[in-house]
Amino acid sequence: MMSQSLVTMCYIVATILFILSLSGLSHQETSRRGNYYGMLGMAIAIVATTFSGAVNNYVILIFALLIGGAIGTKLALKVQMTQMPELVAIMHSLVGMAAVLVGYANFMDSTSTISGVEKTIHEVEIYIGIFIGAVTFSGSVIAFGKLSEKISGKPLLLPARHWLNLGLLIATIFLCGMFLQQAEAGSGTIPLLLMTAIALAFGVHMVMAIGGADMPVVVSMLNSYSGWAAAATGFMLSNDLLIVTGALVGSSGAILSYIMCRAMNRHFLSVIGGGFGTASGGEAAVVEGEVHPIDAEETARLLMDSKNIMIIPGYGMAVAQAQHTVNEITKFLRDKGKKVGFGIHPVAGRMPGHMNVLLAEAKVPYDIVYEMDEINEDWDKVDVSIVIGANDIVNPSALDDPNSPIAGMPVLECWKGDTTIVMKRSMASGYAGVGNPLFVKDNTRMLFGDANKMLQEVLKALKG
Ligand code: NDP
Repeated sequence: MMSQSLVTMCYIVATILFILSLSGLSHQETSRRGNYYGMLGMAIAIVATTFSGAVNNYVILIFALLIGGAIGTKLALKVQMTQMPELVAIMHSLVGMAAVLVGYANFMDSTSTISGVEKTIHEVEIYIGIFIGAVTFSGSVIAFGKLSEKISGKPLLLPARHWLNLGLLIATIFLCGMFLQQAEAGSGTIPLLLMTAIALAFGVHMVMAIGGADMPVVVSMLNSYSGWAAAATGFMLSNDLLIVTGALVGSSGAILSYIMCRAMNRHFLSVIGGGFGTASGGEAAVVEGEVHPIDAEETARLLMDSKNIMIIPGYGMAVAQAQHTVNEITKFLRDKGKKVGFGIHPVAGRMPGHMNVLLAEAKVPYDIVYEMDEINEDWDKVDVSIVIGANDIVNPSALDDPNSPIAGMPVLECWKGDTTIVMKRSMASGYAGVGNPLFVKDNTRMLFGDANKMLQEVLKALKG
């Protein structure tokens, strides 16, 4: 068994490692190191908690660690890169569920000896912990359904939904009063159960009301909620490390949500209020016009004739696992003296940083990967842009169709360059389900087919 001061020491070291991990993860160059810090911090935290004297049944603990560890390892080995956002969503739901279970366990704990103000504070912790946990749990399960396309991405807009949300909030506050009163007398289960049901319904309603293109904000918001749920669990268990770690995740998730909202030109409250961008009244414009197809040989010729090339990756690049072929083409073109860059939209793919992770995996140099803001002024200098499996993030209707569900979202304005080559398999719409006028512009060429297969053909044509 460890002494209390040694446990505290370990917790401080783990906290520092978590902070270093977060700061490491903020840059591509240091992100690998950030991950290692996080893993080390978590290992220290688990060992210190296990031997802190708080555990009274090691057999159950070892079984739980083995079962949880085995499921986690199996899932992590099995999951495809394209399923990562769903995995993250379902992990968040587990944090929420843990907070609910710990809350109920604390509530039912008959060995507790605290009384007076301390007891009331503890009951408030339990109530808030269960509330945040239940919202996180049900919201994350719906987010999982939407990201895996098991549930439609279309927003479910109930009539008077904002009033409904307000009603649920008032009921929660009222039930809190009832719970605290009854808990004094040793009961309180009914208000607690009612509040849990309301919180679960609130989580479902909140995420169901969010339209396709606003999902990135929900994903980062649920990330933040899972942090606060963990912090609430920390309060209930009087575990300082869990409070600090939860607060770190909660606040970094909140900052990420804010950044995502700013990048998408959305107001945070209107996104979580639901249905943002869908209440504009009119119908989005139907896309009409002539499509100009192109083949791999002609694409290779166009690339060889240009000096400045911009590649825009999207979700389809992840589906096709085309990042390695993209890197080979990039190397080839740069060896021929071409300037090649990558334009990354903040919500490209299905999770924050999705494209950066794929490009880093393929070893694309970081210094040629640009944020949207860095390149949106310079499209007139671009000879050819290649859009690889991206759709919503290059949709001009976001800027010029006020009825579009993605109206107001900044996009990569590649059509301002000389020629745009769009690689996708069909004319199908993207995640937001919106038609894309880019595909019928005069200076757009469509290269139809699986992105990896077509890029391999382009590479062959370039080399041959
Ligand atoms: P989109 O979903 O808009 O478009 C992806 C395109 O890729 C599709 O139109 C599809 O067309 C094409 N595609 C799919 N598979 C392949 C393949 N094998 N080869 C070639 N093309 C393929 O993706 P974007 O990256 O442009 O935009 C991201 C969208 O996802 C935004 O609406 C964003 O809001 C949303 N989102 C983002 C999250 C994030 O955190 N980044 C989280 C949740 C949602 P086709 O079928 O014709 O091939």
